[in-house]
Amino acid sequence: MSYSAPIPGLRNILYLDLTEQSSKVVDRRELYKICLGGVGLATTLMLEEYKEGTGALDPEMPVILSTGPLTGVYPTCTKVAAIFRSPLNGELGEAYAGGHLGMSMRYAGYETIVLKGASKYPVYVAIHDDEVTFKDASSIWGLSSAIDVGKILRSREKGAGRRSILRIGRAGEKGIRYASVNVDTYRHFGRLGLGAVFGAKKLKALVISGNKEIQSPEHKNYRKLYRDLYKTLVKTELMEKYHNLGTSENILSLNELRGLPTRNLQAGSFEGVETISGEHFAENYLIRRVSCAGCPIGCIHVAMLKKAFSKSHEYETFNVSYDFELIYALGSNLGISDPKAVLELIDACEKAGLDIISTGVILAWATEMQHKKRLSTAETLGLELAWGNVEPYLQAIELIVRAPNEFYAALGKGVGYASCKYGGEAFAIQLGGLEIPGYHTGLGNLIGLAMGARHSHLDNAGYSADQKAFRKGLSDEEIIDLLIKEEELRCMLNSLTICLFARGVYTPEIVSKALATLGIQKSPEQLIELGKKVSQKKYLLKKKFGYTLETLTLPNRFFETAATTGKLDQKRVQKALELYRQKRGLERSEKR
Ligand code: SF4
Repeated sequence: MSYSAPIPGLRNILYLDLTEQSSKVVDRRELYKICLGGVGLATTLMLEEYKEGTGALDPEMPVILSTGPLTGVYPTCTKVAAIFRSPLNGELGEAYAGGHLGMSMRYAGYETIVLKGASKYPVYVAIHDDEVTFKDASSIWGLSSAIDVGKILRSREKGAGRRSILRIGRAGEKGIRYASVNVDTYRHFGRLGLGAVFGAKKLKALVISGNKEIQSPEHKNYRKLYRDLYKTLVKTELMEKYHNLGTSENILSLNELRGLPTRNLQAGSFEGVETISGEHFAENYLIRRVSCAGCPIGCIHVAMLKKAFSKSHEYETFNVSYDFELIYALGSNLGISDPKAVLELIDACEKAGLDIISTGVILAWATEMQHKKRLSTAETLGLELAWGNVEPYLQAIELIVRAPNEFYAALGKGVGYASCKYGGEAFAIQLGGLEIPGYHTGLGNLIGLAMGARHSHLDNAGYSADQKAFRKGLSDEEIIDLLIKEEELRCMLNSLTICLFARGVYTPEIVSKALATLGIQKSPEQLIELGKKVSQKKYLLKKKFGYTLETLTLPNRFFETAATTGKLDQKRVQKALELYRQKRGLERSEKR
């Protein structure tokens, strides 16, 4: 493979040591040759850096943020991969965020950042080109809203327009195991608790900006390929859904297919769905759409939430972004049909810096526990959680962050932990210790979440395999083959940090052509092989973190409530898990 670095100053890694408050830049171009970037590079680096036995919240545990070679060069190549050890389930922590981050890292001249160590007091790190400063963050530590932290840092730090701001809320400071990192406006490293890792490092925020140019490749095919891609992205039906209603378009269709978890997955469809549909939000609350830097789609849907603050008709307004997962987690899964209530709950999580899917699932489990009289108001500190009732949920979110008693402290450790301590494991809807996303479509979804590297629907889109099975009648083996193929393909796309919404546009053939304009020669077959290798590396890392297949539990709830493709049968699922294991070439007793 021939390879050259067409963008001067890149192919390097910025190492930040929070203990020593020092930084260094290391040229690792040999690593980029093998891994390209994104998740491939970050996983390889983590394998290099990880010292056996290091816990997710230990100071020595690194966090790796990595862009890809196409960032800022082609449209929708906007994401940054974060690799860490998850404090929620102890496994592979993997999350992606867009916004300005990828672009700002490249403006500053860094493709990858490795964060190590922990500060003794709250700090934030300001990176402006080659200038890296560790600053006291005591005055912004403990602020009630992560949104306000962003506003303050915007006024304090230079680089407007070429800057990205990552910060945690109180949830991250307090070590809530599913705390997120807010990125710019409306973007997050949401899942698996990166916010708690930042909190343990006493890292309140990271600001990055730069003045370097991202030069267009000189290659004769570059402009044509860019134009073609842009045209496909904005002028064909492929991406229209994401701009129009966004992912919340799926609310009605999933509901129709009986695949929308409702009231802690006691049902797969919700009678109040109309008023929390994407259509209803668009008609009544949508005020604008925004895009990540370098994307022409604008899939981020922002609603206006108006709240009264006095009896004499005085109001304040908030901008709140919404999408399918958020509406499921804080809408149907909590029995909430009032769209305003959903927006209020999203806003509360956003300010606290909580992963919304996990929060919704935990509140749903606690509600069912209370309904079944397995929790008393002594534990909930007087709160009566009830489906559809927003006020107690808002209070519960605040109590999870404050953790005033053992019960709320347990809720802050995830539904797996809380149900182990208080019971109700059969209806704690988690797989691999991660609270589930908004799909109950069938075998593909269940196996996909159980076996996917990070237990996310984004690993392999099991819900999509189920929808194919629903329409075309696939065998279980065909479903498993689809899952494995999709996971490997996504590992390739994620090594190039291409937004997965554009996966239909960036086929291996197109990616190969795009890389060629940068002087990177990779055939479509080599790219597919690269995805496979990255997927294997992620499993190797999981294994090093101590993950074993034996720890996997499948709560009964998944078998009680009929899915899109019908009721799931325990024996069939076990057989499919076994088949998946064999196809991945794992020994029966092998720990993954
Ligand atoms: S499609 Fe949406 S998430 Fe993806 S890059 Fe564009 S704006 Fe960001």
